[in-house]
Amino acid sequence: MVTGGAGFLGSHLCEKLLSQDNDVLCVDNYYSGNRDNIAHLLANPRFELMRHDVTFPLYVEVDEIYNLACPASPIHYQRDPVQTTKTSVHGAINMLGLAKRTNARILQASTSEVYGDPEIHPQQEWYWGNVNPIGIRSCYDEGKRCAETLFFDYYRQHGLEIKIVRIFNTYGPRMHPNDGRVVSNFIVQALRGEDITIYGDGTQTRSFCYVDDLIDGFVRMMASPGQFVGPVNMGNPGEFTMLELAESVLRLTQSKSKLNFMPLPKDDPKQRQPDISLATRELNWKPTIPLEDGLQKTIEYFKKIAI
Ligand code: NAD
Ligand code: UDP
Ligand code: UDP
Repeated sequence: MVTGGAGFLGSHLCEKLLSQDNDVLCVDNYYSGNRDNIAHLLANPRFELMRHDVTFPLYVEVDEIYNLACPASPIHYQRDPVQTTKTSVHGAINMLGLAKRTNARILQASTSEVYGDPEIHPQQEWYWGNVNPIGIRSCYDEGKRCAETLFFDYYRQHGLEIKIVRIFNTYGPRMHPNDGRVVSNFIVQALRGEDITIYGDGTQTRSFCYVDDLIDGFVRMMASPGQFVGPVNMGNPGEFTMLELAESVLRLTQSKSKLNFMPLPKDDPKQRQPDISLATRELNWKPTIPLEDGLQKTIEYFKKIAI
């Protein structure tokens, strides 16, 4: 079962699991995902789609749960912040209850946002983070932190087989064109010939992982020995400023768009880069797709959907 399976990452995960001959139950309430993302899978008899909100109980029989349900971009998760926290917290309780009843292994899609605006760099899993509990990002950050707490308490108290992955910025085809994330924003703006919106001075950094690399990591994590529960960072350690990203997008799209500097959003982390040595050691995983190759594939997608 993949919750959030009609979203950006979830749809790629469903595809990957089907390609490995699994039966896949995709659960989604279409809050930030949509059926176009999985339309090409509907004809596959091993694929089943269910409209359901994970904040409500769910009784199905499954043996592996990938819990991805949660809006991931600030525009989406800040639209209804109370629902965002409910999705992470009530959603985790329900999915953990389901895993407990069915003896399923359960993987949580956590996030680098649990580190907040980090004071150490790059971030390793032992770091507890620097998170504002009352800011506009808190519904997401604290919801995800509480979900990790619940996963560990179900592990300690009920002996559940848990897996926690902390995902760093990931991009690729099927990102939502209007969700405000930087890669989709820059590509859409460049293709439309609109100004590229750089927030702040553009010197803040992020590390961008291509979706196929991340999904490969998810599947490895789910299949790893039971005693390895994480949390484990997954992302691409290559670090770029937003100005560098804008330059790459402009070059690859051959766009004449200009840069437009705008105010930096509140609580915007200045730097973010994963230390992935744990994933490399335990799962023999590391990303293989360079930024420019992944950007090229993502640009092709946005051209195809004719944004
Ligand atoms: P997305 O918004 O495309 O996908 C999330 C999916 O969850 C959507 O299809 C949405 O409709 C669904 N959903 C939301 N609330 C739900 C609910 N209450 N019940 C059922 N379904 C619900 O985002 P994504 O980028 O694919 O992210 C997937 C997961 O990975 C999220 O949990 C997100 O927090 C995590 N993550 C993503 C990134 C990234 O860079 N893409 C980084 C860190 C963490
Ligand atoms: N739950 C669910 N599906 C199941 C089993 C449980 O949605 O197959 C929900 C159930 O509604 C409960 C939550 O998961 O609120 C936590 O379940 P657990 O068994 O841990 O707690 P309890 O039922 O004792 O509150
Ligand atoms: N950003 C930007 N222009 C945009 C969208 C985002 O400069 O049009 C910046 C944003 O301020 C942040 C970085 O790009 O510093 C990554 O933003 P995103 O929302 O993609 O991810 P997150 O902040 O969650 O890492």
